[in-house]
Amino acid sequence: MSINILNSNKNDVKDAESLKQLEFIEQAKEKVAALEKNLGRKPTACVVTFGCQMNARDSEKLLAILKLAGYEEVETEDADFVIYNTCTVRDNADQRVYGRLGQCSNFKKKNPHMKIAICGCLMQEQSAVEKIQKSYRFVDLIFGTHNIYKFAELLNTTLDSDRMIIDIWKETDKIVEDLPVMRKYPFKSGVNIMFGCDNFCTYCIVPYVRGRERSRSPKDIIRECEKLAADGVKEVMLLGQNVNSYGFDFEEGDSNKITFAELLKMVCEVEGIERVRFMTPHPKDFSDDVIDVIAANPKIARHIHLPLQAGNNEILRRMNRKYTKEQFIDLAMKIRERIPDVAITTDIIVGFPGESAADVDDTIDVIKQVKFDNAFTFIYSKRTGTPAASMPDQVPEEEVKVNFDKLLKVVQDTAKEQAEKLQGRTERVLVEGVNEHDAALLTGRMSNNTLVHFPGDEALIGSFVDVSLDECHGFYYMGTMR
Ligand code: SF4
Repeated sequence: MSINILNSNKNDVKDAESLKQLEFIEQAKEKVAALEKNLGRKPTACVVTFGCQMNARDSEKLLAILKLAGYEEVETEDADFVIYNTCTVRDNADQRVYGRLGQCSNFKKKNPHMKIAICGCLMQEQSAVEKIQKSYRFVDLIFGTHNIYKFAELLNTTLDSDRMIIDIWKETDKIVEDLPVMRKYPFKSGVNIMFGCDNFCTYCIVPYVRGRERSRSPKDIIRECEKLAADGVKEVMLLGQNVNSYGFDFEEGDSNKITFAELLKMVCEVEGIERVRFMTPHPKDFSDDVIDVIAANPKIARHIHLPLQAGNNEILRRMNRKYTKEQFIDLAMKIRERIPDVAITTDIIVGFPGESAADVDDTIDVIKQVKFDNAFTFIYSKRTGTPAASMPDQVPEEEVKVNFDKLLKVVQDTAKEQAEKLQGRTERVLVEGVNEHDAALLTGRMSNNTLVHFPGDEALIGSFVDVSLDECHGFYYMGTMR
């Protein structure tokens, strides 16, 4: 199934900055063509993504530009152009990037034409940029999250230069529309609805590296969804760090000022879009309106990811989450009552400064009451520059480990119990691909985000089919097509 690069044609592009970037792609094309002649083969490019869905979406834009410039995409970092799109949420994410960079230097020794770029959240931290300048001199280009839209221009400069180019902006209020984008899947796509975050949870670096909340105009979002639908996309995922505060940043009286609930309704009306997901809402802003819109609209996936983080009120206060354990439980129960069949998943951090075993029991109590369908559990990771990093009572590693294991067991038992409830039902699934372990099976995703594997023909990839759920294997099902 071939995938088109959207916004690669000047006639489709309205934004002046994007038109300028298309010019830079034209210039880069000539340089890549010269390189091709010199190498006697097509130059190759590899984009390595760390972190969240927002980064994955950014990588699709980077890859589109490289392809338009004439590079061929490859999976290996032994390529002519490699970009690391970094994440900084967890400490080990940095370490992984540095490890990969070290390996990449060996490829560069063999290939003098190779260019290495590094971008993303980690590059918004001055200490990380200094480390690369000092210890990884072979890197050719460093840029950040705020000027990613200038990648075509930076690519063009890098192709002409032997020096390390560094372009990091502290912030931006700009949203550039219509950048070229190459989707990973022909049938589903992420759609950014806003950038940045205003919440300042005390453990999180995002507000410092991604800046303040900036919402895209509803008109631009709908236009993008329409283009995607025309290009064969059936499922969209609306992306933002805090999607339910969408539109809060527009002035009163601005015609763009609509709520997330209204936006959801508008996206559902786009012809051709058959399923709508969103990631991530913040519990404090989850309005009744949003619940009502989901309940009334079968196109909206029966899956809500609602990050709890902790279940103890004092820990929640110190995390600056702005809700209590009781408020969270009430919200989750209301969602379960109004949207039957919904799956609620969550994120939980264990080992936040000052968290005792009794505090973790409060979190376990929430898991048992809400019955999360799944949870991503993390050990607290100290991020330099966040308020929590300098809190005095950091919990010893051993203690965190014991609490983490205890909590994980409850998460797994609850998730299994929840999954088993679906046994014997028939669900509509979007076929996403051939099973990774058995080529005779297809893998499909249900509205509630659970995967099911079943025998079927590859030609069904990208379509919706009905599958009966025959056998529960913990987090996934084996099924038969109806
Ligand atoms: S809501 Fe909190 S955890 Fe999420 S991105 Fe914003 S500051 Fe970080």
